Amino acid sequence: MKKKIKIVLIGVGTLIAVVLLIGGGFFYKFNSEIKKMHPVATGKIVDNIFAIKDEFVNIYVLQDSNQYIVIDAGQDIEVVAAEFKKLNINPDLVIAVLLTHTDPDHVAGVPLFKNAKIYLAKEEEKMLTGQKQKIPFVSNSISRKDYILLEDKQTLKIGNENSFSILTEGHTTGSMCYQINDKYLFTGDILSLVNGKLGPSVKFLDLDNEMATKSISKITNLPNVEYIFTAHFGYTSDYKNAVKDWK
Ligand SMILES: [Zn+2]
Repeated sequence: MKKKIKIVLIGVGTLIAVVLLIGGGFFYKFNSEIKKMHPVATGKIVDNIFAIKDEFVNIYVLQDSNQYIVIDAGQDIEVVAAEFKKLNINPDLVIAVLLTHTDPDHVAGVPLFKNAKIYLAKEEEKMLTGQKQKIPFVSNSISRKDYILLEDKQTLKIGNENSFSILTEGHTTGSMCYQINDKYLFTGDILSLVNGKLGPSVKFLDLDNEMATKSISKITNLPNVEYIFTAHFGYTSDYKNAVKDWK
């Protein structure tokens, strides 16, 4: 009997050690990837576009006369609210939130925008229903259920602004880029920017890195784009130079 208890205790101890080791390894890797990220500081960055910095992630805010369109929603609703206050922008005036995907660092601020319509890619719903998960038993979620699903290559008129959706799956099932008014391209997490050049996405954080890398070629040949805005690696105003050497 005593021997059995000993065996059980050793088994449980080993299991706990393995879980702690995997968990610890995950957080170590996660933190080291975050340290490489370089989002821009909160403020007006170009034309009618503002950046909001929420630790390691950016939200972008596009002004359309007296209302706003937001790309992604950050990872901490209190930080997002405080940064909006700094910019003197009332979140009630946000009419649309375009989500590049539904990972937790991109959706936390959604409840702040109570007058906004929430948009995401049709394919991204698999991340919300649990059909696809990056971590076993952990699904993505957002506070609103009345989101609007977008197709690949769908055009949208939001206020006076034109948005064109480009499906760039890989980081998640329905990662979407948004080309707004032709010249501004918002890419979420499907690529990185290093010294103004396109780089791959963060492999460790991807659902399917190979597919994510393939998807980048869908946005490297857009004749009218001038700017690329990423979620974790800042932005560039020289699209042509950024995409030039990507193959
Ligand atoms: Zn992210």
